[in-house]
Amino acid sequence: MGKDGFRAEEIDTSRPHPARIYDYLLGGKDNYEADQQAADKLAAVAPEVWIGVRANRAFLRRAVRYIVGSGVRQILDIGTGLPTSPNVHEIAQEVAQDVRVAYVDNDPIVKAHADALLSQFGATSIVLADLRDPQAIVDHPDVRRVIDFDEPVAVLLVAIFHFITEAENPGQIISTLRDALPKGSYLVLSHATGDFADRSDAQAVYNNATATMNLRSRAEVERLFDGFELIEPGLTQVPFWRPDAPPPDRSGEIGFYGGVARKT
Ligand code: SAH
Repeated sequence: MGKDGFRAEEIDTSRPHPARIYDYLLGGKDNYEADQQAADKLAAVAPEVWIGVRANRAFLRRAVRYIVGSGVRQILDIGTGLPTSPNVHEIAQEVAQDVRVAYVDNDPIVKAHADALLSQFGATSIVLADLRDPQAIVDHPDVRRVIDFDEPVAVLLVAIFHFITEAENPGQIISTLRDALPKGSYLVLSHATGDFADRSDAQAVYNNATATMNLRSRAEVERLFDGFELIEPGLTQVPFWRPDAPPPDRSGEIGFYGGVARKT
């Protein structure tokens, strides 16, 4: 066991991992040289990624406040990433104390860090599972321990879906999750895009990483909301989704779409 409580062989530090690249871009400390090099390469070809990840995180905060404000008390956060302050349960519980959160990620290092941080909270769980097997997420006992699928749930797919290829059947993944949710549930989703600049070089940075980067167009991202109703203002670049402060400079260059939709 390493000092963080995980077995070293579970953690491959020689290849860039999406969670650790993202952590580095956000200014976090839970990343290694391979991740830093990949992130620096990414930022060299897509300099707006520095403001993009922060704007994505700010979108997540506004979206969580919105859905909890709308009455939802259960959150299933898939692709949660390395713990980043404020974490989803902290954002949510500031609006309503009784919110429960199930965190899911397929990266063992995320689970190890999150276990250490979250173990004191009964209202949360952290589950090692993969979005490519959505039924296993819905059926997982540690998800079921905090999420009651007879009550509305907000599913968060924030900055994760671009790691899913077309061959992995995005439509099927979404419909499996949607079918598990009662009416009044929400989907919060953000997604990387090349609509605002040619980002093929950025995509290539992930070729050697543990997941590929699959940029999608506006129409392709909108299709992920099939069976849900997008709430105002619909799908926008993340800084423009219900902003609570003036959007940062150069927001129009940010290659992340975000939206929140309701199952009716
Ligand atoms: N949702 C957070 C973190 C995004 S980083 C935020 O927006 O701030 C993307 C996360 O998705 C990483 O932690 C990565 O490990 C995870 N991830 C990537 N592919 C995944 C998959 N197929 N299943 C589960 N998690 C995945």
